[in-house]
Amino acid sequence: MTLIKMGFVVSGVVGVGHYGVGEMVTVIQAYRFALDPTAGQYSALRSHCGAQRYAFNWGVARIRANLDQRAAEKTYDISGDQLTPPVSWSAYSLRKDWNQAKNEVAPWWAKNSKEAYSSGLANLAAALGNWAASTKGARHGRRLGFPRFKGRRSGLSCRFTTGAFGLGIDRRHVTLPRIGAVRTHESTRKLARHVERDTARIRSATVSYRAGRWFVAFSVEITRADPAPALPDSVVGVDLGVASLAVLSTGEVIANPRHLEAALRKLRRLQRQAARRTGPDRRTRRPPSARWRKTWARIAVLHAGVANARRDGLHKLTTRLVRTHGAVVVEDLNVSGMLRNRRLARHIAGVGMAELRRQIEYKAGWAGVRVHVADRWYPSSKTCSACGVVKAKLRLSDRVYRCDACGLVCDRDLNAARNLAALARRETSSPSCGATRNEPAGNPGKTRATRATGTATGRPAPPGTGQRRRRKATTARI
Ligand SMILES: [Zn+2]
Repeated sequence: MTLIKMGFVVSGVVGVGHYGVGEMVTVIQAYRFALDPTAGQYSALRSHCGAQRYAFNWGVARIRANLDQRAAEKTYDISGDQLTPPVSWSAYSLRKDWNQAKNEVAPWWAKNSKEAYSSGLANLAAALGNWAASTKGARHGRRLGFPRFKGRRSGLSCRFTTGAFGLGIDRRHVTLPRIGAVRTHESTRKLARHVERDTARIRSATVSYRAGRWFVAFSVEITRADPAPALPDSVVGVDLGVASLAVLSTGEVIANPRHLEAALRKLRRLQRQAARRTGPDRRTRRPPSARWRKTWARIAVLHAGVANARRDGLHKLTTRLVRTHGAVVVEDLNVSGMLRNRRLARHIAGVGMAELRRQIEYKAGWAGVRVHVADRWYPSSKTCSACGVVKAKLRLSDRVYRCDACGLVCDRDLNAARNLAALARRETSSPSCGATRNEPAGNPGKTRATRATGTATGRPAPPGTGQRRRRKATTARI
């Protein structure tokens, strides 16, 4: 068996290259555990995340002041040597400068692990590097601005890369520098087994606070030996549904997890409740009421639950797919484009599709399964899976596919999944013309706008609230 060392972190989990079946691979993988800290640990965690933010903001102010100074001097025709020297923004120099300045600017620094400050400065160095690359045009994606100050309400997180961190021996605790042994909400055995067998090495620990709960995420260099798929010659197409979680080309419909439906009902109720309470008003600077805040805190917890249920369902599905089939076909949806169009009902399914694709791609890499990504403009929904005729138009509201040429009547999502599977069998991903692009049903722009400006009671909405209401209406339809 060969050991291949490769892998890069993509939002917590690794992307890997393609490996042969049954080989061992070494990858970087994230293990995340929910924490149950004591009251003292809770404030220590908060303090470390605050320290991270403080160092970040200190660095932003320092670099900004230096750049502004140099820009001002240039307008006074001061030449190269006379200019204020530039301040280096590498993580190393930022840390060095921080250590010189910390007694002055943060005399309380010793309360937190030095890792907290390094974490903020490392984040700043990365942000400044991205900004510089983006300004020069050396970076793909949207243009990035200069790093902004982190406010009190920005997400709490802090990363430890050196010092005493790791798993406790009882599988119910994790150790963090300065904070000590924190009890975990669930067992750490999955990672503990790897550590005991010496097939895992923990590289860093990141604590974060999301929707009322603390988490720790370990970045782990791990050696995996995943089983090969049971049916290596089988090809499966996956279409993420709106009504169900997914539809497979085998005809199997994977229903949404049960608790998702219950959570959505609760969510709708809480969102109505929040709408009746007094929210913040930017124009009059009216702060939100305590009751409004309380409802929104509950909505955030519920949203986290909905997201967890969906992710759990997707994980179970993707693991089963790569354990069973030799090839998996998914669609390449323009997810960021769909997110911009909030009115498109399918955008929710698209969000799941991006996560499904991410999971399938890295799990397939581990198991040696082939992944095909259908071209973005391949009309998987509009093509007949029996005779291959492409319909000119198919509304999102048409849930059943009816072929005019051969008379096929079949569920819309199943038809799409079958087309995807056939695509991989042909081993081609033919781009189609622009005429077959997907369009939303009806004229949603018009209908949504009329609903957004009024209320259910017929009372006209106060000016300026249309935007907020529209967003709520969309989230209610997840
Ligand atoms: Zn047909």
